[in-house]
Order: sequence, then C-alpha cells, then structure tokens
Amino acid sequence: MSPSYDVAIVGGGAIGSSIAYFLLSDPAFHGTVAVIERDPSYKRASSALSASAIRQQFSTPENIRMSRFGIEFLREIGRYLGVDDSGSLDIGLQEKGYLYLAAPSHEAVMHENHVIQRAEGVEVVLLTPEELAIRFPWLALDGVVLGSLGLKSEGWFDGYGLVQAYRRKAIALGAVFLAAEAVGIELEGPRVVGVRLADGSELACGTIVNAAGPWAREVAAMAGVALPVEARRRCVFVFDARRQLPDCPLVIDTSGVWFRPEGEYFISEAAPPEQEDVADLPLEVDRRQFEERLWPALAERVPAFEAIKVVNAWAGYYEVNTFDRNAILGPHPEITNLYFANGFSGHGLMQSPAVGRAISELIVHGRYVTLDLSIFGYERIAAGRPVVEKNVIG
Ligand SMILES: Cc1cc2nc3c(=O)[nH]c(=O)nc-3n(C[C@H](O)[C@H](O)[C@H](O)COP(=O)(O)OP(=O)(O)OC[C@H]3O[C@@H](n4cnc5c(N)ncnc54)[C@H](O)[C@@H]3O)c2cc1C
Repeated sequence: MSPSYDVAIVGGGAIGSSIAYFLLSDPAFHGTVAVIERDPSYKRASSALSASAIRQQFSTPENIRMSRFGIEFLREIGRYLGVDDSGSLDIGLQEKGYLYLAAPSHEAVMHENHVIQRAEGVEVVLLTPEELAIRFPWLALDGVVLGSLGLKSEGWFDGYGLVQAYRRKAIALGAVFLAAEAVGIELEGPRVVGVRLADGSELACGTIVNAAGPWAREVAAMAGVALPVEARRRCVFVFDARRQLPDCPLVIDTSGVWFRPEGEYFISEAAPPEQEDVADLPLEVDRRQFEERLWPALAERVPAFEAIKVVNAWAGYYEVNTFDRNAILGPHPEITNLYFANGFSGHGLMQSPAVGRAISELIVHGRYVTLDLSIFGYERIAAGRPVVEKNVIG
C-alpha cells in the first residue's frame, strides 16, 4: 500500500517549507505533511540563488501587507523558527532600506505609489535631487527627478539560512521531507488522490500544493492544468569597489539596474533586454550583461564604481508569472484540492512568511483568516483580470 499524507507539497524551497511550517504550527491542524523535494542541496532552487531582500514599496496594498508580515516574521525569526528554547536564530537581517530613483517618465507613478504606501502605513519618503545629494553624496543624479526611500522595514538577509530554518522547524514539528521527484499527479474525477514519484512509487494525499518555484508550470501540467509561470534566468554579479558607500541602501536605478552592499563587496543585477528574456535558459552566467548593461549604468550613477572588479557571479531563475507578474495563490477552481503557491516573479522570499500562513489558513480553515489574498486567485487568469503591480524589479 502506498504511504498516505493529508497534505503533499511539491517543492521544498522557501515557499514549500514555509507552508509545511505554518500548517504544522496551527493548533487546528491535526494532519500529516510530506514535502517532496528532488534536490535537498537546493543547488538550482531560486531560494538559494536569490538576492534575499525585502521591501515595502509596492503599489498593490496586498503586496505591501504581505511584506509587513514578512518583516515582522524576519525580525522575530527565533520566536517562529527556533527549535530550542533560546529563541536565537540569526539570518543576518539588515534593515538598510530601498531607494528607488525616478526619471521624468516615472515621476507621476512614484507619486501615485507613495500615496498608496503612506495609506498602508509604510514609512517612506520622497526626496528631491537636492535632498538625495545631501543624504547620499556618492550618487550622481543626472536624469533623476525624484527618489523614494524606505526608512524602515526594508533590507536584506540570508535567504538560504531562511530556507534551512523553515525546513528544520517543519521537520521538528513532524513534516516528512522526501528526497524524491514528483513526475505525475493522479486524479479521480476533479480530485487529486496521489502523486507519482520518479522511482515508480506513489504517495496518496488528501491535498496537494504546487510549490515548485520556477518549475511550477511542469507540476501543474501533471494535473492537466495550464499555469503561466516561466523560469527566466537572472545573473547576479558580485563586485569589489575597494570602498564602502556610507548608508548605502538597495538602490534601484532609473536604468533598471539595482545594486546593494554585500559584506565588503556589492551585488548588482538587472533583467536582460526583453527579446533575450526567454524561458529555461541554462543556469550559466552571461558575463556580457555586466560589460554591456550593468557596468555602464553603475559607473554613471556612482562615480566610485568606475573602477570596479567582478569577484563572483551566479545565475538563478525568477519564477515569472507571465500573466501579471504577481503571485498565484489558492485552490484551482475545479480541482479544489490542488493549491497553487507560485509565480512570485522575484518577490517570493520576502513573501514566503505571508504565503505560508495564507495557504495553511486556506487548507485548515477553508478561508483566509489574517490577510485576504483572494485577489491573487487562479480565477483571475481565466477571467483575464490581471493584478497590476507597478513596482516590479526585473
Ligand atoms: C537572482 C534572483 C534574485 C532574487 N531576489 C529576490 C529578492 O531580493 N527578494 C525576494 O523576495 N525574492 C527574490 N527572488 C525570488 C525568490 O528567490 C523566489 O521567489 C523564491 O525563492 C521562490 O521560492 P520557491 O520555494 O517557490 O522556489 P524554489 O526555491 O525554486 O523551490 C522550488 C523547489 O521545488 C523543487 N521541485 C521542482 N519541481 C519538482 C518536482 N517535480 N519534484 C520535486 N521537487 C521539485 C525544486 O528542486 C526546488 O527546490 C530572487 C530570485 C532570483 C533568481
């Protein structure tokens, strides 16, 4: 007889592990949880190849609210994910802010976003070029008409450490992590009844969650469901500028290139040009991007970056929701025991606490309890009703 679990989660990255943790820490949940993860080393997982930053500066209130819970969770990580009583767990959270820079064409949108963010209680200020020059004297402000700086609750952390912490805690609470690959989903009528694994074995389940990150489309297809999620390669470059920039936040330049400090170095990335941004490119670093795109933009924005040296680089996949670049959350409208937690398009690590809590609430209580995220339901795709988020990076 095949083993049976109440909930089977395909994918044990930040999202799948967070869902397992939140399920098992809800006193109203009395079931069993299996997390099916084909690569426990997370070598290709987005969660391990991320820039691991968190921001509040979105234009969609629900995205802001997810990030608000995200930062509270990260600040108190020991209380949530500590496995002993000490409550000590360090994921190196540094709240140094995000600074968006606007060219004239983006000025009106920055003002509109600011109104939404302030209404949501985000501590953010708009700065004129003169104010930016005083605060960040290392910036060259040609072409910049406005800046938006998060004063609190934004920064970066150790993303791989977060995944490991979710996983460790979920296991301590009783989750079974299976080092296995899901290759098929068994349906009986409109219900999922099990998962087929690559070794030929099967697992029966009452509910299945697709948390397969950049590979979510393939997992959805196993149930005959179309999911508009693509693996799009992003290359991150680590460079040495031989100096620090005082109070440097994560800066999103008008060119789309972003950078932030990383220890004694900096890291930087930008989406490739649209025509080159195709699905499933090999996870190899495209060094041309640094020479042709990043470096010129970095040197123009920060004169101290004129003589920098790349010391490392890596490539990872964004799990891009090609429909509207926002999360796809909750059950399939017809196959109601198939849940999605997909398509985060570069926000998944910061949203992982809110997503884990949200999906576990849907499974255990049949509704969103703490934060209504129904705008991100799968139904919007069939209905052609995109959720427009104006602050997407890359
Ligand atoms: C360069 C880069 C920068 C980023 N920067 C940020 C950032 O600053 N802030 C932020 O919040 N987010 C950022 N992101 C996005 C973030 O990393 C992702 O949204 C998040 O990690 C997604 O987590 P996940 O668990 O869904 O996916 P993953 O971490 O990819 O996990 C999915 C897992 O599913 C497993 N899997 C897939 N298919 C199967 C199968 N059939 N059977 C078994 N296992 C399977 C895979 O092995 C994988 O481990 C960035 C991403 C990249 C690539």
